[in-house]
Amino acid sequence: MQPMHAAAKDDRGDSTRCVHAGRRPTPGDPGLMAPIVRSSTFLQHAGTRSLTAAGRWDDAWVYSRYGNPTVAAVESRLAALEGAQGALLFGSGSAALHAALLAAAGPGGAVAMPSQIYGGTRAILAEELVPLGLRLVEFDLERPEALATQEHLDVIVVESLTNPNLLVADLPGLAQLARGHGARLVVDATFATPLLQRPLDLGADLVVHSATKALGGHSDLTAGVVAGGGELLTRVREIRKHLGAVLDPAPAALIERGIKTLALRLRAQAAGAQAVAEALEGQAAVRAVHYPGLASHPHHARCQELLRGFGGVLSFELAAGDEALLPFAARLRLVIDAPSLGGVETLISLPATMSHAGMSPEERLRAGVVPGLVRVAVGIEDPEDLVADFLQALEA
Ligand code: PLP
Repeated sequence: MQPMHAAAKDDRGDSTRCVHAGRRPTPGDPGLMAPIVRSSTFLQHAGTRSLTAAGRWDDAWVYSRYGNPTVAAVESRLAALEGAQGALLFGSGSAALHAALLAAAGPGGAVAMPSQIYGGTRAILAEELVPLGLRLVEFDLERPEALATQEHLDVIVVESLTNPNLLVADLPGLAQLARGHGARLVVDATFATPLLQRPLDLGADLVVHSATKALGGHSDLTAGVVAGGGELLTRVREIRKHLGAVLDPAPAALIERGIKTLALRLRAQAAGAQAVAEALEGQAAVRAVHYPGLASHPHHARCQELLRGFGGVLSFELAAGDEALLPFAARLRLVIDAPSLGGVETLISLPATMSHAGMSPEERLRAGVVPGLVRVAVGIEDPEDLVADFLQALEA
């Protein structure tokens, strides 16, 4: 059966869909790219029209916080890639997550979140929504069955591929658990991108991306997207309108450009990640490598089952522990020490000092941040140059 939020299936290849899905030039709208409409406000036709749920006067634009033609055109492309009824662009991935969680949980709702989740998502829930009455339940992504005995849940939120250890969430199993509670499944699929997995097809109610990462793809914008359908997406749109979290048309146009090369970039990143993971595995200075493309990864088989590739992010543990992190980072000549992922440059981040710095040592361990952990977000450089850089930095 077609999932509730799904759009018609598009069986064309990844690159074809990235270039064409969701936009076809017409005589009335002939651009290969959506025109950038900067206007914040539009002719109102006062009293002659009614405001729709999509934030428009019947078929005309009103005000860019409600909706904007450039932003909407890029949202059509994203919805098509995600196989969703609709998509909404936000000023950041965090704003997108905030709106998705607020819409799905409702006031005073109960949200289940795994220990293995991005620190920013944890902060949205624990620091912003719990003080407003939300109940937060933490669980281990490796043991989701514990959720079956929870008294009541409104939302289960997970990352389909986790940061930093690349665990693969069992989305069909989690969707079943969510249904058992009458809860919604919200999936942050930033690491997977819409090309490796379409969570709505696997039972998710909303899918969220930080478009700052692979969708934009060039480390030159900050944005987020929520895709889904029905009343839930309408509620997400209302929250975006009320909180003013909408994306500006200029970065929306950069996302449209980014999407066109997503498949090419992702292929190059995955090839680089596989080469780096294989080269690091077995090095004396490396205790363990976490990449789902390695047979040694605990979710190698699940990744093959639920995703269409292994992605461009991996992590590894320096055997010498946290003290070795900064000297190692300083020895890299090509790879750059900076947060984020999904861009064309290969970046490393040190979760203990960056994304997970605000956590206690116990929380960090529960999140999989062991001593000496380095996360690598592979770019599009030639794999042999990346491998050479990592090996020389390890040798010293
Ligand atoms: N989700 C994941 C998995 C992330 O890694 C990040 C940022 O690093 C976010 C969401 C937040 O995105 P943004 O920085 O665009 O707000």
